[in-house]
Order: sequence, then structure tokens, then C-alpha cells
Amino acid sequence: MNLVVMKINFSLEIYIDHDKCIGCGTCEKVCPSKLYYLKNRKAHLVENYRDNCFICHACSVSCPVGAIVVEEDVR
Ligand code: SF4
Ligand code: SF4
Repeated sequence: MNLVVMKINFSLEIYIDHDKCIGCGTCEKVCPSKLYYLKNRKAHLVENYRDNCFICHACSVSCPVGAIVVEEDVR
């Protein structure tokens, strides 16, 4: 069996616009990796979110005010 190993350069950034965020907690509920938490009625990401996010986009599509942008870059 031939095994081909590919190295993928990958970057991920998630932006939360706190001017738009209404603190509804939806992102906290829908993220399957539990990467969001609310503080002072605004959404925040845990520090190491890149290690556990699998880019399902549930957070960005569920936010009622469009405050979350998930930016992925695979090269
Ligand atoms: S993309 Fe998916 S796993 Fe990543 S933070 Fe959003 S809901 Fe969580
Ligand atoms: S879903 Fe959007 S509005 Fe609701 S807490 Fe998360 S970022 Fe804020």
C-alpha cells in the first residue's frame, strides 16, 4: 500500500463584532465544541478555539444579527 502524506497549511480566524452582538447566547448553545461563552452580555471565544473548531459554521449562520464571521484559509 502506498501512503501519501499531504501537509496542509491552514489558518482560521473567527471575528465577533461586539457592536452588533446582542448577547442572545445562541452561539454558545449551537457550537458543538463549546467554544463560546458570554461575558458582560457579549459573546467571546475560548483562548484555544482554533484547536477545537472544525469549521462547521453553525455559529455564524445561527447568529441572528450577523455578528460572527468565520474566516478559513486552506492552502
Ligand atoms: S465553526 Fe462550528 S465548531 Fe467552530 S466555533 Fe463555530 S460553531 Fe463552533
Ligand atoms: S449568536 Fe450573535 S448575537 Fe447572539 S451572543 Fe452570539 S455573537 Fe452575540
